[in-house]
Amino acid sequence: STAKLMDRTIKSTTTFKDVAGLKEAKVEIKEIVDFLKNPETYTKLGAKIPKGVLLVGPPGTGKTLMARAVAGEAQVPFFSLSGSEFVEMFVGVGASRVRDLFKKAKESAPSIIFIDEIDAVGRTRDKANALRTNDERESTLNQLLTELDGFGVNTGVIVLAATNRADILDKALLRPGRFDRHIFLELPNKDERKEIFLVHLRPIKKAADVDLEILASLSPGFSGADIANICNEAALIAARKKKNEVAQEDFMEARDRVIGGLERKSKIISPKE
Ligand code: ATP
Repeated sequence: STAKLMDRTIKSTTTFKDVAGLKEAKVEIKEIVDFLKNPETYTKLGAKIPKGVLLVGPPGTGKTLMARAVAGEAQVPFFSLSGSEFVEMFVGVGASRVRDLFKKAKESAPSIIFIDEIDAVGRTRDKANALRTNDERESTLNQLLTELDGFGVNTGVIVLAATNRADILDKALLRPGRFDRHIFLELPNKDERKEIFLVHLRPIKKAADVDLEILASLSPGFSGADIANICNEAALIAARKKKNEVAQEDFMEARDRVIGGLERKSKIISPKE
């Protein structure tokens, strides 16, 4: 299991240059970078550096990207774990994974732990959940709470966790000293979409007719992930047509495909909700 965890330790090369828009979130996240880089500035004044920070926002708005950028900017190791992995695990495995992960992160401090989809383990323990046997989820959640409380303040480990919905999280997770800081990531507006397109157009060989203004205007409601998807899809379409450059029409075709994909997804999801 150590080997498995080692796989998940990465040196992040992501920086704030890769994160477009999200101005307010970036201001707050920069403070986290500073906690990791210059802890003495805070500790010498008797301040307690936050342990847990919740990144809250719709799918594809850059929560994972932002967490990686923190590690990349602060140049600290990044340990990650996805909440949904635990749901199917055998009893005891989730808790021991959490324990191992915190141990490794403490040994490599300063460091970042990133927990994606924390709602998968941290949902409110309500009646609906109690009907199903959710022992594994519960023991993983309890271990997570134990770890958060167990490591002292100012140990140099900061836990970032991502969720689409902070409102469904167990209140125990949100108490002071746990995930008591929340950073909100919103869907991008038109200008922000433009900035995101710029980031993802960087590696693309584009034709002179590519119009960023039009691309941004015609993608309302799109997330950063959707935009990244359009740019890559456009390049694939152009390659298939044996072109030397990616033209506006390729982007428009890619956009239609991404919209098609989104519509299919919402059709599958909507009957349940
Ligand atoms: P989910 O909730 O679905 O896990 P997420 O919020 O963690 O999504 P990411 O995985 O960070 O979203 O985003 C997916 C990809 O979309 C990123 O790797 C990046 O390529 C692109 N992306 C998302 N937001 C931005 C942004 N603000 N700037 C640049 N690229 C972005």
